[in-house]
Amino acid sequence: MAGKEVRYRNGGDNSVLKMILIEQWGYCCYVCGRPKDYTDTQIDHLIPQSVSSAELKDARAQYSLTSSFDLHGPENLAPICSNCNRTKSNQTFQGAGFMLLSLSKAAKLRPRVISAYKKFGSGTRLSNQLLRSIEADLTQREAREAFEMHAPAIVQKLALLDEDKADYVTYRQVILDDMHPDDLPDIFIPDVVLSLRTRGRTAMSILQDVCGCQLTDLLEPRVHDLIELLQDRVRQEFESITEPSRTNASPAEMFHLRVTIETIDYHRHASVLEFTFQGSFDAYLVASLVQDALDGDGIQDRQGEAAVAGTFSFTADWPISAEQGALDISDCTIEDWVSHRDVT
Ligand SMILES: [Zn+2]
Repeated sequence: MAGKEVRYRNGGDNSVLKMILIEQWGYCCYVCGRPKDYTDTQIDHLIPQSVSSAELKDARAQYSLTSSFDLHGPENLAPICSNCNRTKSNQTFQGAGFMLLSLSKAAKLRPRVISAYKKFGSGTRLSNQLLRSIEADLTQREAREAFEMHAPAIVQKLALLDEDKADYVTYRQVILDDMHPDDLPDIFIPDVVLSLRTRGRTAMSILQDVCGCQLTDLLEPRVHDLIELLQDRVRQEFESITEPSRTNASPAEMFHLRVTIETIDYHRHASVLEFTFQGSFDAYLVASLVQDALDGDGIQDRQGEAAVAGTFSFTADWPISAEQGALDISDCTIEDWVSHRDVT
């Protein structure tokens, strides 16, 4: 089958595969979402490679895996940082839902991983040298000095091909300290990150320097919005359950939310600057459910858990004649949506 050879090799050299997985997963650890260096990242098997054949059979059924699913294929691999690799079994949101979301992302990325792997042309002199630069351990002082001095030549070479090719992603964590903790359980801290390329960084500067916008003032209401949208949607999904019986759900409580703003674009329409924000989220929510008892007599208490992921967008308009900071921000709209629910 096409692409079958792109797979993890036990005891073999997986360095190219690791590099490509890191690129395709957005240079971040799939568990904590943090950007990590190549040297601090490993390849993780989503379904552990140590599963017994009976467990694998169960997993195939539970996660609706296709017959061609390969434990060592890109559909089961993701980059994980050393820290998460040590502690991943302690993650509270790492249940079946998180597994399902990760497997669906891996399945979606699989063709891109295979294609990038093939284009890399392993074994050529250039590909070996590029790989070696990426593998460089920059905690070593000498390596770091050499890298700082000479790596910009590669960036310049890229810019000569096309200046957009020298684009890169930067990460910035946003602390929303005015979020209302009363609304949220103690353990819940929304994790908000800006992961932007050049255009997004430029948009951010215009927003701050020209429109006088405070980043937190802009994001806080939209993250609140998103929390409410996710809570409503999850509650509706639980209430749409009719098997084995009709279900009523309490408002869903959120225990994990990661929001990443991935692009900010900007255009001028007559005398208005319009900014379009696009981002992704993943979240874990729990709701109390009440179902009619199966014997038709009374009711039954249950707990519903939902792991959800997707993308969202909103816009912010600034009329050029307006005061600094006077932006007109639209509501959040959810675009892609994947959810996995468990009722126990
Ligand atoms: Zn991590």
